[in-house]
Amino acid sequence: MAPQYDAVIVGAGFGGMGAAIALKQLGLDNIVILEREDDLGGTWHVNRYPGLAVDIASVTYSYSFEPNPHWSRLFAPGAELKKYAEHVADKYDLRKYMRFGAVVGGAVWDDEAQQWTVSIADQEPVTARYILTATGFLSQPHTPEIPGIDTFQGKIIHTTNWDDSYDLTGKKAAIIGTGATAVQLIPKLADRVSELTVFQRTPIWVTPKVDTPIPKTVQALFKRIPATQRAARFVNTALLEALMVSAVLHFRQARVLNEIAAGAAKLHLRAQVKDAELRRKLTPDYDFGCKRPTFSNEYFTTFNKPHVHLQTSTIERIEPDGIVTADGSKAEIDTLVLATGFNLWDVNFPAIEVLGRNGRNLGKWWRDNRFQAFEGITVPQFPNFMTLASPYSYSGLSYFTTIEVQMKHIKRLLGEVKRRGATTFEVKQEANDAFLDRMTEKLGDSVFYRGSCQGSRSYYFNQHGEAAILRPTSTIAAHREAERFPLDSYTYS
Ligand code: NAP
Repeated sequence: MAPQYDAVIVGAGFGGMGAAIALKQLGLDNIVILEREDDLGGTWHVNRYPGLAVDIASVTYSYSFEPNPHWSRLFAPGAELKKYAEHVADKYDLRKYMRFGAVVGGAVWDDEAQQWTVSIADQEPVTARYILTATGFLSQPHTPEIPGIDTFQGKIIHTTNWDDSYDLTGKKAAIIGTGATAVQLIPKLADRVSELTVFQRTPIWVTPKVDTPIPKTVQALFKRIPATQRAARFVNTALLEALMVSAVLHFRQARVLNEIAAGAAKLHLRAQVKDAELRRKLTPDYDFGCKRPTFSNEYFTTFNKPHVHLQTSTIERIEPDGIVTADGSKAEIDTLVLATGFNLWDVNFPAIEVLGRNGRNLGKWWRDNRFQAFEGITVPQFPNFMTLASPYSYSGLSYFTTIEVQMKHIKRLLGEVKRRGATTFEVKQEANDAFLDRMTEKLGDSVFYRGSCQGSRSYYFNQHGEAAILRPTSTIAAHREAERFPLDSYTYS
């Protein structure tokens, strides 16, 4: 039986749309994009909390082949990203492939038919020659199992499920978490509520955000002469690249640059908070880069406000009307905001059950062995499968680098499959092993293994203690490898 589709893509975010564009460019247009949400845009559809904005400048946080001259600020607000996603879907005619509300349960390789069967909750399964999972890194919200949380009588809002109809005015609120999401949200929350208690377990490194509106004249220039926006992108991308490669990946050789970044964050804190005890509580005790640092000009100053309280004592339990901490105090609240992030390593890698050749279960295999994927995209024993949110795939600081590197890999690999008149590819075990060895060795110089990351509780680290998300090479090297990886890293049949 021929499969129904050339390819199934799971996820209609920027990763899934990039994959669809790559497939179309190869002439594969019998595809379906299965999306569990009710619209496209991934992260930028799901997240709508007040203050949401990109924290990589928008000239870089976008497809290089689809520049948007209309960004209103250097760091565009979230709603503009959603609009940009819609524009891309329309321009590249992708909506016709998308099926919303399609919650994929799993995918099973059929060795006889040489195709994948993909199960969807409450729908008929579909079959396809190829499957590409573009399920994102931060797509499975984490709700902490704090004793008593179910007994809370007030309103609970997770940042990934913002309730726009809920009026925060005058509320006595608490927020748990001080990650990048909370850093954006806390100043906005503080503007509306009468009391705000921030429960911080681990402080975050925060540097100043050099943000500004982009004047209409500059937007017009970007539109009229696209090379000007490309130049802006080049400069910004180069700066990010230098930061990433030196301060994070080459910590052993360039520790001083890492210390300069941490020093800048400390100066920022000192300039914004006069209370020494408050500063001490807000200062991380792990190296810069162990977990994702962020940028804000409003976060620290919010703690100077009399109605904002920083609580660093451990949460013991939640009661119907408040939160009790180990120091014996209780914050009485009617609204609880969970900025508690995402679960990556238990439920997201992979986000669906994937059974390959001989019934090999990808999630179990990764957990029993090590998290790994050749060039961050293919796995031995999983023919015709590309995993786009994978170990060692995240390249550089802008997710769009990862997407575009993967688009190159997809095009090169499937182009070769076509050239050979084949229908099946599978990465060779030895190519996969060599890649994993190389990534492991390169990580040896990074802040993750050379720095002091013990107290960071960083989601970069998995249950094996490995920092297995980021690809520890420059983005230039990642692009080059996508263009030049030996095609005989794969078998074709
Ligand atoms: P996160 O970085 O994982 O932060 C979650 C926060 O919740 C942490 O402070 C964590 O404390 C805390 N937490 C979790 N469980 C807890 C518990 N049981 N008790 C007390 N505290 C608990 O998640 P996020 O802030 O949503 O950010 C995730 C990522 O999304 C960022 O790193 C960034 O890559 C991305 N992001 C990007 C943007 C942007 O570009 N504009 C904005 C927001 C987010 P511990 O640190 O102690 O675990």
